[in-house]
Amino acid sequence: MSSSIRVRFAPSPTGPLHLGGVRTALYNYLFAKKHGGTFILRIEDTDQTRFVEGAEDYIREALDWCGIAPDEGVKAGGDFGPYKQSERSDLYQEEIQRLLESGAAYKAFDAPEDMAAKRSEAEAKGEVWQYDATTRMGMRNSLSLSEEEVSQLEADGHPYTVRFKMPDTAREVLVQDEIRGEIRISTHVLDDKVLMKTDGLPTYHLANVVDDHHMRISHVIRGEEWLPSAPLHVLLYEAFGWDAPKFAHLPLILKPTGNGKLSKRDGDKGGFPIFPLEWNDAATGNTSMGYREQGYLPEAFLNMLLLLGWSGGDDEELYTLEEAIAAFDLQRVVKAGARFNPDKTLWFNEQYLRQGDTSRWINPLKTAAEGKMDSWSDGQCQAVLDMFLERVQFLHEIPATDYMFGAPEAYDEKLVRKKWKPETAGYLNDLAEVLRGIEAFDSATVEREFKAFLEERELGFGAVLLPFRLVLTGTGGGPSMFDFAAFLGKAETLVRLEKGVAALS
Ligand code: GLU
Repeated sequence: MSSSIRVRFAPSPTGPLHLGGVRTALYNYLFAKKHGGTFILRIEDTDQTRFVEGAEDYIREALDWCGIAPDEGVKAGGDFGPYKQSERSDLYQEEIQRLLESGAAYKAFDAPEDMAAKRSEAEAKGEVWQYDATTRMGMRNSLSLSEEEVSQLEADGHPYTVRFKMPDTAREVLVQDEIRGEIRISTHVLDDKVLMKTDGLPTYHLANVVDDHHMRISHVIRGEEWLPSAPLHVLLYEAFGWDAPKFAHLPLILKPTGNGKLSKRDGDKGGFPIFPLEWNDAATGNTSMGYREQGYLPEAFLNMLLLLGWSGGDDEELYTLEEAIAAFDLQRVVKAGARFNPDKTLWFNEQYLRQGDTSRWINPLKTAAEGKMDSWSDGQCQAVLDMFLERVQFLHEIPATDYMFGAPEAYDEKLVRKKWKPETAGYLNDLAEVLRGIEAFDSATVEREFKAFLEERELGFGAVLLPFRLVLTGTGGGPSMFDFAAFLGKAETLVRLEKGVAALS
């Protein structure tokens, strides 16, 4: 039996999920799992004008990639469906009737032009107009018009919206937030929000509150941008006669500079992804990069998100999902905006690449090598991993370069010109003699003998190591040459040495 803790992630399928959305999903997931509760995915698709093809699938795929799939939802099923708001219209109709009957809501017949006129009139006087307790009686609605007029308008099929009726006399609304504590706001600043549009579809506010109630949501954990809506939601729960869930509003995610909200453009400018998965925008033809496609591990991406607004209270930074579930606590979510640091995700990626049993990378490495490693034994692949994992941030950076598979055919010309001296061939020939004498050809022994050779001959590191690298790889960079020589084995190392010396002298 799961506990009564029920939380939901309620994205609107209006495009790809921003990393902030994934963080909201993650915190909901962690909270649910920590308390043996249920994590629900609800698709809030009542705004048909903003619907984007593929966005819903994208959301599910992103959560799957992160390993935080919902327990209930459109695909997962559950007892509280449908989990898509566009399929719940009847319920909203029923509930809005209750508000109309009790007088908590009213019908408004105003033409958009009339409201626009009111707005510009006020603007001209340097004021702001809103549809509220002070202005509604001057508008055309079921409160200001007679019953006959209203019936006539309805009989004529005149379009109307349904608005929430803020109290006539101002009062205080209390929002209890698990992260921010008590927030009090006076209703006199609040407007009569539209709950149902002229097309009979609910707005976000109505659908959100009705669904949270009917889906028995215990905690609403969502981004700070929804905090201004919370007082209205509290009043709606009151009007319906329902207990409100607990609220927790997560801090904003800030640009790397700390100035302002992180946006897609910051990612484009800084060269880092903002989205979990790559997204192809059918409307513009543009592709936005994704963490997955850039080679990030989901563990690293999630760990970064975990610490973007939460901390365990100590210096611990690495959390597996299991550890995060055990440690997570809404009370430790910060109130202040969390500054996004793209380098941190790179760091997490390195940590997760190197951590634990690295043999799990053998198959991914082979895939990345596009066939070139297919004939390699697991032992050879593991040796490549051992050589490179300490030096790369992504698995795909491990070179599937030709020198891994055979002696170099060419040698970096610039380096040869700069570093290959008349005496170099002699040094390498002598080094070959030393290497030939090594019994156990492992990295540590090769390194020890190499250094002893330099010392005995009073040679600098650079005079021999770079030429050694050149003959083994043809290049000037790459793994530790002692690791690489050990990886090649004695015979192949000596073959490459001889071949290189012959070619370059
Ligand atoms: N549909 C809203 C969104 O797109 C949900 C807000 C909420 O969680 O209440 O973020």
